[in-house]
Amino acid sequence: MPVDEFPRYPLLFGPSPVHPLERLTAHLGGAKIWAKREDCNSGLAYGGNKTRKLEYIVPDVLASGADTLVSIGGYQSNHTRQVAAVAAKLGLKARLVQENWVNWPDAVNDKVGNILLSRLMGADVRLDPAGFDIGIRDSWERAMEEVRAAGGIPYGIPAGASEHPLGGLGFANWAREVASQEAELGVHFDTIVVCTVTGSTHAGMIAGFAEQDGPRRVIGIDASATPASARDQVDRIARNTAELSGLERELRDDEITVLEGWAGDRYGIPVRSTLDAIRTSAELEGMIIDPVYEGKSMAGLIDLVRSGEIGADSNVLYAHLGGQPALNAYAGAF
Ligand code: PLP
Repeated sequence: MPVDEFPRYPLLFGPSPVHPLERLTAHLGGAKIWAKREDCNSGLAYGGNKTRKLEYIVPDVLASGADTLVSIGGYQSNHTRQVAAVAAKLGLKARLVQENWVNWPDAVNDKVGNILLSRLMGADVRLDPAGFDIGIRDSWERAMEEVRAAGGIPYGIPAGASEHPLGGLGFANWAREVASQEAELGVHFDTIVVCTVTGSTHAGMIAGFAEQDGPRRVIGIDASATPASARDQVDRIARNTAELSGLERELRDDEITVLEGWAGDRYGIPVRSTLDAIRTSAELEGMIIDPVYEGKSMAGLIDLVRSGEIGADSNVLYAHLGGQPALNAYAGAF
C-alpha cells in the first residue's frame, strides 16, 4: 500500500527545513548546494533520521502492548538516544545495549553526548564490550529475554531501525516531502547526497523516489567502512520497502549507488577529509556536522562537486541526518 496509507505516529515538527548553502556553493564553485535538515526535525532530544523512521514503527509498538523499547548501538549512538526520547514521550521504558563500536580514546566517550542524553531521559543504559557490526546481535536478543524474565513486554528495534520491516518507510515518505518542497520552491534536486551505515535511510529514499518521474540520482556515501555489507543492506531494504509501498516494478541496479572513499579505515574514526568538511561547513554556513556520519558524507559531497562528478549545472540536496551530540566525545580531534 502507498506510504501515506501506513499508520504514522507524529514525532516531527512537520516537514524538515530545506535551504540553500550559498557560501559553500560559492566556495566550491560548481553545483548549487542545498540542505534538508533532519538535525532540527523534532523537539525530541534534537531529533535526527531515526525519529523520522520511528514515526512508522511506533504504531506497531503501541499495537503490541509493549512496555519497554529494546535497542542497540555504539556508545555514542544517535539511534539509541532517539529511541530513549521516543520512549520518554510515550511513557515507556527503554533498555539500551551500548556496544564499544569505536575504539576512540576520548576519556568521556561513554559519558557525554548521546549517552548522557539517554541516561537523562531515564533509559536503562548498559555498556557492552562488543565491536562494530550492523547485523542482529545476541546481546540485543539477550536484553529482550531479560526484560521478559523481569515481567516486562519488550519491543525490539534493531540497530538504526534498519532491519525492522517498516524501517524504510520514514525515508520513503521523505522523498514525497522533497517533491512537495520542490514544487513550493520551484527547484528540482537532480542529486541527493546521503550518509549510509545501517542502510534504511538511503534505502527508503531510493524506494520513495522510484515512484516519482524525473531524473534523480541518490548517492549514498558509505560511513561504515564496510561498504560491501552496507551496499547489500541498502539493496535489500530498498527492494523490501519498494514492495511494501506498492511500487509496481523492480528497482534497477543503477538506482542503488553506495560510494566508498570517505569513511577511512574504520567506522567512527574521523579522517583528514572528515575534519576538513566539519570545519568548512561550520565556518562557511554555521552548519554543524559530526565526525562519525555527516562529516564523512559532506567530505564526499565536497569532492564530488569539486571534481565535477556532480556537474556545475546540478542542484544537490545534502541530507543532514543529525548526530551533533557525538561531537562532545571528539573534542580531542579538534
Ligand atoms: N547520520 C547520522 C547522524 C546517523 O545517526 C546515522 C545512523 O546510523 C546515519 C547517518 C546513517 O543512517 P543509516 O543507519 O540509516 O544508514
